[in-house]
Amino acid sequence: MNPIRKIACYLILVLLLNCVVQGEMIWLEELLEGQIPSEQNTKSEFEIYRDTMELVWEELIWFPVPLSGTNEQATVAFENSWMAERNYGGKRSHEGTDLMASIDESGYYPVVSITDGVIEQAGWLEKGGWRVGVRSGNGNYYYYAHLASYAGEWETGDPVHAGDLLGYMGDTGYGPEGTTGQFPVHLHLGIYVPLGADQELAVNPYWMLKYLENKKLTYSY
Ligand SMILES: [Zn+2]
Repeated sequence: MNPIRKIACYLILVLLLNCVVQGEMIWLEELLEGQIPSEQNTKSEFEIYRDTMELVWEELIWFPVPLSGTNEQATVAFENSWMAERNYGGKRSHEGTDLMASIDESGYYPVVSITDGVIEQAGWLEKGGWRVGVRSGNGNYYYYAHLASYAGEWETGDPVHAGDLLGYMGDTGYGPEGTTGQFPVHLHLGIYVPLGADQELAVNPYWMLKYLENKKLTYSY
């Protein structure tokens, strides 16, 4: 082979190799697209909030106070008192919704679990009285406060299903263990969602309760 042909062959080979490598690079880029986080597919704060809320909405099954099968007068009423001023234990904001009893009788109304989950807390709290805290399947915390009594000897880890009787509505709290009668009979419901490793965010249960208003069990009481 003469030298000019040799050089020509060599150049053609180099060009061909170059084409192959470039083609490979384009193919690699296509493969990696969507795997590497970019500005466009990073979740915005709004999206994180929306997804967090979705994890609450999708697990709501039953309104926490069943209908009475026998007494039409036994109803509950609630309004949006989110962040309203509360003064017991220092000036603070209301982190929940109060379901007020039309019959102001402690121990009369049953309180059921809104969601599936496990018991995380039970026992006395100065502000909450006899309370139950249920950790739902999606990791959210449902706080039921001021109960008159419990439906069982709740222990941490006990499984509960939506609609299971947790206890009875009362007027306990705002003092040392056993304090009653500091306010009318009602159920205080709080909902908290996890935020990072060891933080939580209180969310307004009002709209969730409005949604659950036509999802009531009937209990005989
Ligand atoms: Zn309250």
